[in-house]
Amino acid sequence: MKRRSWLPSVTVLALLTSLVAASFAESPRAQSGKLKIYISADMEGVAGVVTADQLLPQGFEYGRFREFMTNEVNAACEGAFAAGATEIVISDSHGNGENLLVEKLPKNVTLVRAFPRHLGMMAGIDESFDGAMFIGYHASTSNSQGVRAHTISSARLADVRLNGVSVTEGAMNAAIAGHFGVAVIMMSGDDAAVKEVSDAVGPIEGAVVKWAYGFHSARTLTPEIACDLIRDRAKKAVSRIKDFKAYKLKTPVELDVRFKNYRPAEVLAYLPIVRRMDSHTVRFVGKNMIEVSDFMEFVTTYEPGLEP
Ligand SMILES: [Zn+2]
Repeated sequence: MKRRSWLPSVTVLALLTSLVAASFAESPRAQSGKLKIYISADMEGVAGVVTADQLLPQGFEYGRFREFMTNEVNAACEGAFAAGATEIVISDSHGNGENLLVEKLPKNVTLVRAFPRHLGMMAGIDESFDGAMFIGYHASTSNSQGVRAHTISSARLADVRLNGVSVTEGAMNAAIAGHFGVAVIMMSGDDAAVKEVSDAVGPIEGAVVKWAYGFHSARTLTPEIACDLIRDRAKKAVSRIKDFKAYKLKTPVELDVRFKNYRPAEVLAYLPIVRRMDSHTVRFVGKNMIEVSDFMEFVTTYEPGLEP
């Protein structure tokens, strides 16, 4: 009886609180008419890509597939702009970070190129963005499905875990965006990649441009239809951008990196900030995703012969 008497006032309070929260949600970016989108672009998940022949500069199809990658990014931009995006930053996040044909991008975007860089595939993201999209992404090294499934380095890493859970590059990058309160709203790639990221970060607009038949084989859409699909999903995602939640990891963040070889684990464990977990695995605990991302960048970049 007593409970009942104060319940309605709680309901009214909750309603008022949600109304106040809603009015805050509309400000200040929505009121200023600005809508900023971050696009991280990889290449393994581009329609038609199945082997290194498309992925590496020395591959016989690379030149054409740079164009297809660029077209897919452009399709995402077109969809985002059509739904009201006012600013887009694109990061070229495959291989040397110099794949996208800069002169073929929309005039009103900016492009992040080359490595190494802070925040890796998410360089340039901050809290001023309203949403992030992943184009051409692939499944993780711990996924038995997926074209060119790997995590950061296909040659060197056997597993990457955040807070005990194996992650894809997509989930890791979503957690970097999440650190800044930015939600991933859309991604494209093969069926395994889209499923893996959606399972980890929650429902997003997914554009499946090919179906993995193996590490080096897939049934794929043609480039033009893939672009139509990406444009459509990007437009949908931006038009309902308020439906997506930032993917935030509990801090501090525990990063476990499993190498394919022994020696990186052995030598990294000389550092007092690194703990050797088993023959092939080290652990680093970062105070947040920024520290974790910088640690990963260091581990996958550093060697004493670096020049210049
Ligand atoms: Zn890549």
